Amino acid sequence: MSGVVWLALDGVGHPQDAPGGSVWDQPLGTLRPLVDAGRCLDATLGVPGLPQSGTGQACWLTGSDAVALMGEHFGPHPGPTLQRLLQEGSLPVRLARAGGRAALGNEYVPAYFQALESGAGRRNRMGCFPFAFRAAGLPLNPPRVPLLGATLGLGYARPWSAGGEERAALDALARHGGALARAARDVDLLALDLWFSDLLGHAGAPDVPGDALAAGQSYLRRVDALLSGLLGAGARVVVGSDHGNLEDLRTKGHTLARVPFAGAGVNLGQPGNVVEAGRVLAGWFGLPGA
Ligand SMILES: [Zn+2]
Repeated sequence: MSGVVWLALDGVGHPQDAPGGSVWDQPLGTLRPLVDAGRCLDATLGVPGLPQSGTGQACWLTGSDAVALMGEHFGPHPGPTLQRLLQEGSLPVRLARAGGRAALGNEYVPAYFQALESGAGRRNRMGCFPFAFRAAGLPLNPPRVPLLGATLGLGYARPWSAGGEERAALDALARHGGALARAARDVDLLALDLWFSDLLGHAGAPDVPGDALAAGQSYLRRVDALLSGLLGAGARVVVGSDHGNLEDLRTKGHTLARVPFAGAGVNLGQPGNVVEAGRVLAGWFGLPGA
């Protein structure tokens, strides 16, 4: 059986908690039906404050309540406490220990490694996903995986969208999805840390910037194309998010929105929050809940 491809969106709240005219308010022929058929998860875990990437992703990756461990929502990058949690109990680590095969399909550019090195000895600037895969002894930019840039072809900074080139980009992403589906046949888990949605979400403002909305809409169309390629090639797929942000561009920061948990070829179960969803994920690989 093919491995599971995990599209780990960053900062994309569920459409049910998005205001009218949001990035979700457009035709997304593959992504939207999948999300609508999936679950709607709490990301606050009953703790005040806005959910953050460090604790949120650690919940997904470990099935442990990382927010309770920290006593607060913390991020974006895991500090020493969350690093220990990820080293001991994250899905890539536990899979590797059990003889399973996992890969992180993100493409990391040379500037990323340079930034990590220049920050050596200072605060960790590696997100939970790359940190957890490295903790499992797995390389970033693994060979034999068609690596995917998390911007999905958009520019890193304004103006994000080149405009006029989207059709070709969507076709390329659908083909890339097919290639990832084929690569997933050789592993148990193939994760993609799609952090760019959170970056776009931070461009929000009370008077919603038109270019941020357009880029956010385009980003979801690109996820939709990637997903259609994955599903068309028979991949088992899970889609989740760590917290809300992009779904409400009226605010610059994260939101309290619930987050999607959707999938194809997997049993989603009935989790109510991101910790329980992390346990469901682990269960697919025969790993016990945290
Ligand atoms: Zn995040």
